[in-house]
Amino acid sequence: MFDSLSSRLEGVFKKLKGHGKLTEKNVEEGLREVRMALLEADVHYRVAKKFIADVKARALGQEVMKSLTPGQQVVKIVNEELTRLMGESLEDLNLSGTRPVSVMLVGLQGSGKTTTSGKLAVYLKKKGKKPYLVPADVYRPAAIDQLKKLGGQIGVPVFPSETEMDPVEICDKARTAAQKAGCDVLLLDTAGRLHLDAELMAELVRIRDAVMPSDILLVADAMTGQDAVNISESFDKALDLGGVILSKMDGDARGGAALSIRAITGKPIKFIGVGEKLTQLEAFHPDRIASSILG
Ligand code: GDP
Repeated sequence: MFDSLSSRLEGVFKKLKGHGKLTEKNVEEGLREVRMALLEADVHYRVAKKFIADVKARALGQEVMKSLTPGQQVVKIVNEELTRLMGESLEDLNLSGTRPVSVMLVGLQGSGKTTTSGKLAVYLKKKGKKPYLVPADVYRPAAIDQLKKLGGQIGVPVFPSETEMDPVEICDKARTAAQKAGCDVLLLDTAGRLHLDAELMAELVRIRDAVMPSDILLVADAMTGQDAVNISESFDKALDLGGVILSKMDGDARGGAALSIRAITGKPIKFIGVGEKLTQLEAFHPDRIASSILG
């Protein structure tokens, strides 16, 4: 694997021992290594560029602390900037509003939306909530069946959607049914397409405006790296997301997509998917991203 950023920076700064201040030249040499580390972690180039500029502005002219080498000092500034960018706190689902509330899941086909709906149902049940699953993808009967099966496995009721129904009608009727069943959180598994398209976005906007969900979460596949960033940007522009769930993080240890999505959309990553099983959903710890990127 790659050398950790810390050890690479140590190399760059070794020759500078004894110099009191971080100068433009040594900061720039150090930042070349930082840029490489960011790009190797698949951070979006726009994000990497801005990040480097911010670190440079802070580092220039700083006195090197007595306890640190110049390399350690740059790593410290980089760490602080990464933490500032990612936010420090865990972000949970937004479930505010009149019961039952709705959480809308959106995303491209294959991103892991249906699986994540099941995972969130398990998560909510553990927290003492009563989730209700709603298949709102009327274009793929297999998606409806998949959710019914998942619901059966975890003992969570599923609305009996049919392909002839309109998604808004499904969500409306599901709300009444959930209320009758004593459930408090509806999880809406909406339709996805293979690629972004205007028709899909229009349908999602229509559902959002009718349902007024307490949270709208994009499920994005972390393995798609830079694409996940562009996808998040488009969904956020159309729907004003409440947050993002990065699925398939078990296949992507680099974390660049998480950093880029946060930097570009400003929206929090709320959870990560770390496997196909319904228990494999974890809260997203922003502080851990810094160490996974910096090594
Ligand atoms: P949808 O089309 O967006 O509803 O996607 P699915 O939920 O059907 O998921 C597509 C594929 O990704 C399935 O094979 C899932 O088992 C798999 N998948 C979903 N989430 C994860 C995850 O966090 N890790 C891994 N390794 N696979 C996942």
